[in-house]
Amino acid sequence: MFLKSTVDTNEHAPSYYAASVNWQTDYPQLEGDIAVDVAIVGGGFSGVATAVELGERGYSVALIESNRIGWGASGRNGGQIIGGYGRDPSAFRGSIGSDGVTAVEGMGWECVEIIKQRIEKYQIDCDLKWGWCEVGLKKRHLKAYRQWAKEEPEMKLLDRDEIKQYVNSELYLGGYYREDWGHIQPLNLCIGEARVAESLGAKIFEHSKITAINFGESPAVETDKGRVKADHVILCGNAYMGDLVPYLDARVLPATSCIIATEPLAYEQLAQSMVRDVAVCDSRTALDYYRLSADKRLLFGGLSNYTGLDPTNATAIMQAKMRKVFPALSAVKIDYSWSGRMGISVRRMPQIGRVANSNVLYVSGYSGHGVAPTHMTGRILAEAVDGDTRRFDIMNKMFHMPWPGGKLLRRPAMAAGMMLYKLRDRL
Ligand SMILES: Cc1cc2nc3c(=O)[nH]c(=O)nc-3n(C[C@H](O)[C@H](O)[C@H](O)COP(=O)(O)OP(=O)(O)OC[C@H]3O[C@@H](n4cnc5c(N)ncnc54)[C@H](O)[C@@H]3O)c2cc1C
Repeated sequence: MFLKSTVDTNEHAPSYYAASVNWQTDYPQLEGDIAVDVAIVGGGFSGVATAVELGERGYSVALIESNRIGWGASGRNGGQIIGGYGRDPSAFRGSIGSDGVTAVEGMGWECVEIIKQRIEKYQIDCDLKWGWCEVGLKKRHLKAYRQWAKEEPEMKLLDRDEIKQYVNSELYLGGYYREDWGHIQPLNLCIGEARVAESLGAKIFEHSKITAINFGESPAVETDKGRVKADHVILCGNAYMGDLVPYLDARVLPATSCIIATEPLAYEQLAQSMVRDVAVCDSRTALDYYRLSADKRLLFGGLSNYTGLDPTNATAIMQAKMRKVFPALSAVKIDYSWSGRMGISVRRMPQIGRVANSNVLYVSGYSGHGVAPTHMTGRILAEAVDGDTRRFDIMNKMFHMPWPGGKLLRRPAMAAGMMLYKLRDRL
C-alpha cells in the first residue's frame, strides 16, 4: 500500500455526507474580544454535544471551529450508533472501583439514549435508523458472541443462515443483531446539534483556529483575529488538534480510516447484499464497517492505518474489500471516496480530564468508537462545569497514558503492533 499526505482543505471532505447535507453552515470568524461562561474549541460531536448540554443548563457558550462545523471525524464517519465504550470498563476496576465500573457501564447505555432523545426533542433530520449487526468470520468470534449474550439480553444471536436474512454474504459464519443501536447521517446530526446549541444562545465561529491558550485563573483562547475569555475552556479538537497542548498531543494517536459510497443500489442488488437496513461491523481488529444511506447507497468503510497518511489508491482498495464481502456488487459505480482521522488512546477509552489543575478541560481518544460516546462526554463535561464532577472524576481516574515512543516513534510502533493484529485476524 502506497501512502500520501492527507489533502484536507478548510471546507468539508468530498464525502457523500457533504453532498447530502441539509444545512450549509456559514458562521462568522471570531474577531475581537468576547467573554462567555464556557469556550469550546472544536465543532465536532464532542464540541456541539457539550454546547447543547451547557445551553440547556443556561450557560453562555462560544463554540470555535478551525474549519466548518462537523469538518473532522464527526462529519466523515461510518455513522454507526454503537453503545458502550471501545473497551470493557471492568479493565479499569483497579483505578475506578466496582461502583465506577457500574457507572461507566451505565454511561455506555445512556450515550445512545441521549442521541435518541435529542433527535426526537429537537426534530433533527439526520436519517436515524435502528438496527445493528456484528458479523463473525472465525469460530472464535462466534464463541465470544455466545459469551456476551449471556449478559446482554438485547443481543439476538444469528447462525450462518440467519445472518443472511440481514447481510447476504458468504463470508460470515454467524453474528448477532440488536435493535437498540443503529445509524445516522453524521454530518446532518452534527450540524443539526450546532443549530440547537445556537438556538439555546451559543455563539458559533467557523474558520477560526485557536492558536494559543491562557491557562491562568481565568482561561482564554486566541485566534489570530480574536480572543475568548471564559470561566472554563473545553478542548474538543481530538485527533485534529495537533500540538496546541503538547500534553494532549502525546496522548492521542491520529489514525486514518477510509469510506467509499456506491451509487444508489437497485432492488435486486440490495437483495444480494444489504437485505435489512442495518449498520454492520465485522469482528476483526482491522475491521470492515458498512451500512446503507437513506438513498440506498452502500457506505463501506475500513482500511485503518496509523501512519497519519492516506493510501494513494484508497478507492480501489476499498472497492476490492467491498467486492470480497459482496461479489454481486462488483460492477457498481463508486460515487464518493473520503477519509478521516480518529484519535486513538493507549487504553482505548475516551480521555476526559483537566489540564494541570486549571479550568481547561479536555476530551480525546475515542479510538474509533465515538458517535454515541461523544454525546455522553457532552453531558459529563456540562455536569462538571455545573459543579457536579462525580462522573467527570470517574473518567479522569482512568489514567491517560502518553503513547510510548514519543512523537517520532509512536506511529511506527503502533503500525507494527497493528500488523501483528492483522496477521492474527487471518488465523
Ligand atoms: C472514517 C471514520 C469512521 C468512523 N466511524 C465511526 C462509526 O461508525 N461509529 C462510531 O462510533 N465512531 C466512528 N468513528 C469515530 C468518531 O467519528 C469520532 O470518535 C468522533 O467523531 C470524535 O468526535 P470529536 O468531536 O471528538 O472530534 P472531531 O469530530 O474530529 O472534531 C474535532 C474538531 O476540532 C477542530 N479543531 C481542532 N483543532 C482546533 C483548533 N486549534 N481550533 C479550533 N478548532 C479545532 C477540528 O477542525 C474538528 O472539526 C469514525 C471515525 C472516522 C475518522
